[in-house]
Amino acid sequence: MPTEFLETLDHVISEVVDPQASVVDETGAFPTATIDALRQQGLLGLISAPEVGGMGRSWGDAARVVERLARSCGSSAMVVCMHYCGAAVIERFGGTDARKAVGAGELLTTLAFSEAGSRSHFWAPLSTAKSDGDQVVLDANKSWVTSASHATAYVWSSQPSVGSEGTATLWLVPRDAAGLAIAGPYRGLGLRGNDSAPVRATGVRIPAAARLGDDGQGFDVMMGTVLPIFQLCNAAGSLGLMESITTASVAHCSGGRFEHLNSSLADLPTIRAYLARMRIETDKVRTLWEDTIAAVEGGREDTMLRVLQVKAAAAESALQVASLGMRVCGGAAYRKEVGVERRFRDAQAASVMAPTTDVLYDFIGKAICGQELF
Ligand SMILES: Cc1cc2nc3c(=O)[nH]c(=O)nc-3n(C[C@H](O)[C@H](O)[C@H](O)COP(=O)(O)OP(=O)(O)OC[C@H]3O[C@@H](n4cnc5c(N)ncnc54)[C@H](O)[C@@H]3O)c2cc1C
Repeated sequence: MPTEFLETLDHVISEVVDPQASVVDETGAFPTATIDALRQQGLLGLISAPEVGGMGRSWGDAARVVERLARSCGSSAMVVCMHYCGAAVIERFGGTDARKAVGAGELLTTLAFSEAGSRSHFWAPLSTAKSDGDQVVLDANKSWVTSASHATAYVWSSQPSVGSEGTATLWLVPRDAAGLAIAGPYRGLGLRGNDSAPVRATGVRIPAAARLGDDGQGFDVMMGTVLPIFQLCNAAGSLGLMESITTASVAHCSGGRFEHLNSSLADLPTIRAYLARMRIETDKVRTLWEDTIAAVEGGREDTMLRVLQVKAAAAESALQVASLGMRVCGGAAYRKEVGVERRFRDAQAASVMAPTTDVLYDFIGKAICGQELF
């Protein structure tokens, strides 16, 4: 399939994302210019069907966009990662108006799954949804919502309505709904522009028709739709960070001179060996990531195993590569001049984002031992 969208994206990255990336990190500002530029180029509607105004591209293509953004700006990549996850749910289960809004790039979305009570066990919402005629009343204590103050609407999890079976139901909740309170600015180690904040819902009324999928079937949507695209896109974020750290480290070590020895950092065998390990980790993850995209798109038998593996592998390799980048670039990395320090901080998020690496190890262990995951 033609890949002009990647050329368009590369143009947006060089013109808009690159110049803003360190400002976004330093100020903690939401990457509004990036999101506006992606919207103008139709890239927010990337995975929406052409009949609702989207580009009709695959989830693998969504991950490719996130990977390229992450090489430049981890915050932008995270915002777009969460948008594509919500967009996939809306495209499959939303009404025509919502699908059109996403397709046109008018609706920036995200996932509001994690809760204070069930923590990283995102599949087990404790928040409630009570039916009241043709409305539903939501109460919740959501602990992390990326783009909390900037999304148009959240893809929201709750327990099923009273009397329904199942463990979860999903809704499309407008960000400006009365009764929603977004906690103050995000203050995190990295991804400082991703605007991830707690959101509390107190008696929030939405139309019952805003439900995404059947009542009580939210768990199936989470596993069948959200998990694959989230794992691909989150791994893409880690991979993009690794790619840029490795590239920046090679450039710094090749250019950094010991003038008294007339040699470079890269002339040291120790430094070259670290750079080699960084390149191996990055290429290993890229190979697994491409294979996972192929598994998802081809409906392969090992798809679930690959989906579980790819985020854990990418997140853990990103931690290693980021640490090695800090080591080989030395004091220059400790300051901000080679851009490795920002990516080092950004790379810390993936392993604690749900499903966390340790939860994934447990799931993968169960899967390969023939045990049920839940
Ligand atoms: C930058 C960022 C953006 C985010 N954006 C969103 C978003 O848009 N939407 C959203 O819904 N959530 C979002 N999250 C939340 C995220 O997905 C997790 O829910 C959150 O990071 C979990 O934090 P916690 O401290 O509550 O985890 P805890 O559950 O307290 O976990 C603490 C530790 O316990 C471990 N642990 C927990 N259960 C098990 C187990 N069964 N086996 C082994 N170890 C276990 C974990 O691996 C972790 O190491 C975001 C998080 C971050 C960091």
